[in-house]
Amino acid sequence: MSQLRVRFAPSPTGYLHIGGARTALFNYLLARKEKGTFILRIEDTDVARSTQESTDAILQAMEWLGLSYDEGPFYQSERFDLYRAKVQQLLEQGKAYRCYCTAEELEARREAALKSGGKPKYDGTCRERRDQPAGVPFVVRFRSAQEGETCFHDRIKGPIVFNNEELDDLIIQRSDGTPIYNFVVVVDDAEMGITLVIRGDDHINNTPRQILLYQALGYAVPEFAHVPMILGADKTRLSKRHGATSVMAYEELGFLPEALVNYLARLGWSCGDEEIFSMADLIEKFTLDNVGKSAGVFNPEKLLWLNAHYIKTGDRQRLAALLQRHLVAKGIDTNNGPNLEAVVKTLQERARTLVEMADGAVFYYAKEIIADPEAVAKWCTAEARPGYEAVLSALTACNDFTHAGIESAFAGVMSATGLKLGKLAPAVRVTLTGSTASPSVYEVLETLGQERSLERLRNGLKLFAA
Ligand code: GLU
Repeated sequence: MSQLRVRFAPSPTGYLHIGGARTALFNYLLARKEKGTFILRIEDTDVARSTQESTDAILQAMEWLGLSYDEGPFYQSERFDLYRAKVQQLLEQGKAYRCYCTAEELEARREAALKSGGKPKYDGTCRERRDQPAGVPFVVRFRSAQEGETCFHDRIKGPIVFNNEELDDLIIQRSDGTPIYNFVVVVDDAEMGITLVIRGDDHINNTPRQILLYQALGYAVPEFAHVPMILGADKTRLSKRHGATSVMAYEELGFLPEALVNYLARLGWSCGDEEIFSMADLIEKFTLDNVGKSAGVFNPEKLLWLNAHYIKTGDRQRLAALLQRHLVAKGIDTNNGPNLEAVVKTLQERARTLVEMADGAVFYYAKEIIADPEAVAKWCTAEARPGYEAVLSALTACNDFTHAGIESAFAGVMSATGLKLGKLAPAVRVTLTGSTASPSVYEVLETLGQERSLERLRNGLKLFAA
């Protein structure tokens, strides 16, 4: 085990967002690559906004993506005693103070400051206050440095400097006694021995405040790596307007976790001009050095392309198992019909998602084929009927109902009638599948099997114009 200890620290106030998933992935990859430790911490101190449902959704999405952690999940809501003790420590050391200013007073002073062209930060009224009026609610504020600079070297963004003058005396404990994010994140990252904080760059402005808190609490400051945002095609922050943003929505839309992992890894990270990466490849090749500094644009087409790749090359047994639930959602009972793995084999090349694959599989399990009237009008003509009947009798007589056997049955009909496959196949396809878009007729026949195929072909006779 190396010294590296990283963590993913989601707030359970909603599902796992695509951006959060990428942050989790980067942490996971680096931990696995460097044989470090990956910790999951649920940041649920905001009791009003945190829900068990969100926590469950986040855990489920991490599992689906294959992001296993070594320690946790830890829950901040179970660690309030620790935070209280740390607030107490800072109070006793004079590094924090009780602030009795009311919301109205703060607001009035803020407005006055803005009017006179000043900064709307806390004016320090209670900084030197020593009395502790009984029964009056107070918050605890951190006595932040007023001068000098706070600098850090971000592993992705490079050197970053903040003027301490810009920093407010941060509230670390609310009047109801609950602690604030910027405080607990420091206590936990330090107590959990985190050596590198990888998180979204929306937290960059919090980092100098956190560094000052580490120092005040006597902790070593970890390294930081701030990952750029993910944007939509219009270059605004990725949101629901751009399509699905929840990890599990992609499962529902028929995406494979390895496609999403591959896509998210490449979004903002590169390795030459390679595009296809398994989790094992990523663990081997991932480094923070190749994470870009600027925001990545989410490209649904590319995700779809990767998904198609993983479906095409995927293990059939696994794809069949994953496909099941999409078929069940369509009310299809796969016990009644051809073997699902054989069905998958015929659709792998064509489907970009499991949902598309389920759509393509429906005809295999249909009790009755309701053929597209346009396709019927075009192909099930009086002229096509003799060829169709010849195919029907050749397939009835066929005693090797495999791809090769079926092909030679068609070859026999072609040489006997002089008709090309382009004339014979479309009507067969329409009566077998109901449409003209399907895997090849040979594949469909072989997959349906002789009995089901002949039944459909016989029923299909009714569709032909007299
Ligand atoms: N709970 C914070 C969030 O979800 C985590 C921030 C951090 O990683 O420090 O944004």
